[in-house]
Parts: sequence; C-alpha cells; structure tokens
Amino acid sequence: MVDGLVDAVIVGAGFSGLGAAIQLRNLGYGNLAIIERENGIGGTWHVNRYPGAGVDIMSASYQFPFERNPYWSRLYANADELKNYADHVTDKYDLRRYVRLNTSVQSAVWDEDDRLWQVSLSTGELLRGRFLVSASGFLSQRHHPDIPGIADFAGQTLHTTGWDHANDLRGRRIGVIGTGATAVQLVPELAKVAEHLTVYQRTPIWVTVKPDARVPEWVRRLLARVPIARRMFAVLTDVVYDLALNSGILNHRRYGLINRLVEANCKLMIFLAVRDREVRRKLTPDYSIGCKRPAVSNAYYPTFNRPNVHLETSGIERIEPDGIVTRTGAKTRIDTLVLATGFNVWEHNFPGFQTIGRGGIDLGKWWLDQRYASYQGVTVPNFPNYIAMTCPWAFTGLSYFHTIEVQMAHMARLFGELKRRNAVTFEVTEEAKDRFVTVMRPKLDDTVLLHGNCATANSYYFNGFGEVAWFRPTSRRHAMREHTTFPLSDYRIA
Ligand code: NAP
Repeated sequence: MVDGLVDAVIVGAGFSGLGAAIQLRNLGYGNLAIIERENGIGGTWHVNRYPGAGVDIMSASYQFPFERNPYWSRLYANADELKNYADHVTDKYDLRRYVRLNTSVQSAVWDEDDRLWQVSLSTGELLRGRFLVSASGFLSQRHHPDIPGIADFAGQTLHTTGWDHANDLRGRRIGVIGTGATAVQLVPELAKVAEHLTVYQRTPIWVTVKPDARVPEWVRRLLARVPIARRMFAVLTDVVYDLALNSGILNHRRYGLINRLVEANCKLMIFLAVRDREVRRKLTPDYSIGCKRPAVSNAYYPTFNRPNVHLETSGIERIEPDGIVTRTGAKTRIDTLVLATGFNVWEHNFPGFQTIGRGGIDLGKWWLDQRYASYQGVTVPNFPNYIAMTCPWAFTGLSYFHTIEVQMAHMARLFGELKRRNAVTFEVTEEAKDRFVTVMRPKLDDTVLLHGNCATANSYYFNGFGEVAWFRPTSRRHAMREHTTFPLSDYRIA
C-alpha cells in the first residue's frame, strides 16, 4: 500500500477535473493526483462514443476560454474532436503525469486531526490530500432501466456509454429504448444501417434546428493566426446562449412567448419533416420547451419516414430473449437492444463516491436532508477543503464550460486568500450556505421549470423532492460576479 500525500486529489479527468487541476497549479499547488475511473481522459467524451455523438452546444462556446481551439472542423464538434481536445489540453498543460486511469475512488474521509482527506482507491491504495475536488461529472453514472426480463435478453445489449465500434450493426433488428438528446443523435445513424429499427419512446423530446456547417479552411487559418478572431467568435456564440438562457429558461414568466414561438417552430419542423400524421402527433411534446433538455438535429424527425423505422409509444411490458413486448401485448423481434436511457443524476451521483466530512457526516445523506443545498454550487459546510465541481446549484449557463469557468474563478479567490493568510483549511459557513439557497430557491419560480408546464416532462432536472437544485437560476454574468466577489467571511479560513 502506498501512503501518498498530495496537495489535492481530483476525482475525474473530464473537463471539470482538468480545469480544476490547471487552476490549482496556477495557484501554486503542483502536487496533484487526478483519479479517473475510465481508461482514458476526457470524461463524457471518452465514454460517449456512440455513432453520431457530438456536442450540441456550438464549439466556440464549448471549450476553455484560455485554450480556444481554432481548428474545430464544424460549428458543432463531434465526439472524436472533443476527445482529442481533452488530450491536447492534458498534454499542453502537462497534466498527464498526475492522472491515474482505471482507478475509482471508493471513499474520501476528512481527517480532522491531520486536517486532510484520506482517499481510498479501488487499487487498495490510500491517498492523502490537503484538498479534495470532486469532478466526477453530472452525467457519468449510467442508468440501466429496470425492465422485467432485460437480463434475459439473448441478443446483444449496448448502452450508449459503452459503445463498441467493433460491432457491425448492419442488417440488425435493433430496438432503442429512450428518446433523450443521446437518442436524437444516435437514431438517424442506426436507421442507416439497421434492417429494422424500433424506437421506444416514453416521453417525446423537443428538437430544434441545428445550424451546423463545416468551418472553411480559410476561417480556421484566420482563427489560428488571429487570437482576437477566436475570442470574438466565442463572444458571439456566448451571447446567443446567454440570450437563450435568460429569456427561454430563467425569465419564463416574462418571456414565455419566446418559448411558445420556439415550440411553434419545432412543430413546424415536425410537420414539414414527418409524413405520417399519427407519428407527428406522437413526436410532439405536451410540456414547455426547456422543462427537460431539448436537442438539436436536422436528421432526427425525417428518420421516422423511413420504411425500416418504427416509433413505438405504447410502453414496454417486458423484454424476452428475442424481443420486446409492449403493453398492448404486441412483440417486436430484435437481436440488438440499445439502451439510450441516460444517467442517474441525483442518487449515487451527488456525490459520486462516499464522502465523509467533519464529525462523520456523510455527504450523500446530508444532501438528502438538506434538499441538495450548497454554497454557490461549489462548497458545502462540514466539508472542509472540499471543492465540489459536481455539485447541486452549480450548472451555470448553457455550456458546461461556463460552469467550469465560474467554479475556477471561485477557486482562484478562495485559494488566493488561503495563500495570502498562509492558511491550510477553508470551510464555508452554514449561514453563507443558507443565505445562498434562500436567495436561489425563489428565483426558480420565474423559470420555465416552475412557471412553465413541466408536469409531463419527466425531467431529470427535478429531484426526488420535486425540486430543481440542478442549475443556478441566475445569469452567467451574475454568477461570475458572485464567484469573484463573494465575502471572504463566508468561509472559516485557518
Ligand atoms: P436522458 O435525457 O436522460 O434520456 C433517457 C431516455 O431514456 C429518456 O427518453 C427516458 O424516458 C428513457 N428511459 C429511461 N428509462 C426508461 C425506461 N425504464 N423505460 C423507457 N424509457 C426509459 O439521457 P440522454 O439522452 O443520454 O441524455 C442525457 C443528457 O446528456 C442530455 O440531457 C444532455 O444534457 C447530455 N447530452 C449532451 C449531448 C451533447 O451536448 N452533445 C448529447 C447527448 C446527451 P423519459 O424521458 O420518459 O424519462
């Protein structure tokens, strides 16, 4: 057993873990351990490699602002490019030497006497870290549906997070369960190769136009040579997403008309793309756009015109070794079962591993008791020296990089103060946490999530209490202001 002491243990080598590592190093903490469960770097973009996988936020807004890539091949990059970008960032910032792949964190326990974290790894090692950063991801615990008979399916079962490209799906009879943002990307690709494809939909998803295009070579050369051009491009796409966030999600009470216009546009898309009236009806959601994550695609709706594609909405009764039986009793024979069933985002994810703070407090239980409270979506009372990148109330803006950016800014202010005082511990106060959630919770009233019609959306934004503690209901600018100017007295620093 190795008994290593590091400045910080960072859990996860996705973009938030890489961002935290870069920031800690900037702040003078150079002895890091980045623990990664998977066999490669990149988090979501290492794991999600199904056909058609790509980002549905424009790439100019989906990257680190201090490391803008001029070479994105399209306005919306695909998964391979994002994985390459993660590797590029890792190498350019010399982070690879800290990364331990194929290693899970079993538990992290705060040691009050030594004022550090004891982190147990799946390898049997015990790491000790002055700081602990959880960056295990909002969407990293794969959800396996508990459907009767699923374990007895005799064909091949593939989850979208465990795609094996060695599989040749040509000529297969495929059943896809799920119609979230993942299925929207995957279904058109499967339809091209399957002999027959049945899409099992429980809740339809809003899909908007994808204004995608190849980035011409001369534009990429320009972006590579002129940093200000890269910056302006990102500013432009950021403005688009900020406007969408502020009008379509945060201020639904005032701008609900905009959502209805977007819904009308999606309905027009369905009308123009899908020939069968009944299929059109089934594909049309009855909840407000924004209640659950919408998708962007120009290919999804037309796929349902194909003779080899069937949309099934009557509900799954059971799975048999050779097919799926719906509640009507009808059975469709399949040889390949594709689970596009998403992730567990609350249980087993907040936190993604057992985390025990001061006085033996278990973070998972504490979050349940406290209705998923946090301070600024980054720290938690009773958990000293702990930065939760994967944290309730954290999600800021529409691009995940906007969340990482504000959390890195918070770290800069907090750790900067630690250094200035020559201190070794920080812990946010209960009062600061209470003040933060007391201000945030009522703000949700104006959002589409509480003001819109979300009853039938089946959205993972809502937790078991029926509350939304997933994202921060403020503008990005407001979030950045708070993360860079929060009162230092909100922390006990010693
Ligand atoms: P998801 O949005 O959670 O969708 C899961 C789908 O599986 C839903 O349609 C769900 O139906 C269905 N489902 C789950 N359990 C089921 C069951 N027992 N029986 C029948 N249906 C079941 O997951 P996802 O599509 O993987 O997307 C997750 C998130 O990943 C997205 O919201 C997005 O944030 C992110 N994502 C991003 C990108 C990107 O940026 N490029 C691409 C893909 C995904 P219900 O809706 O009825 O629950």
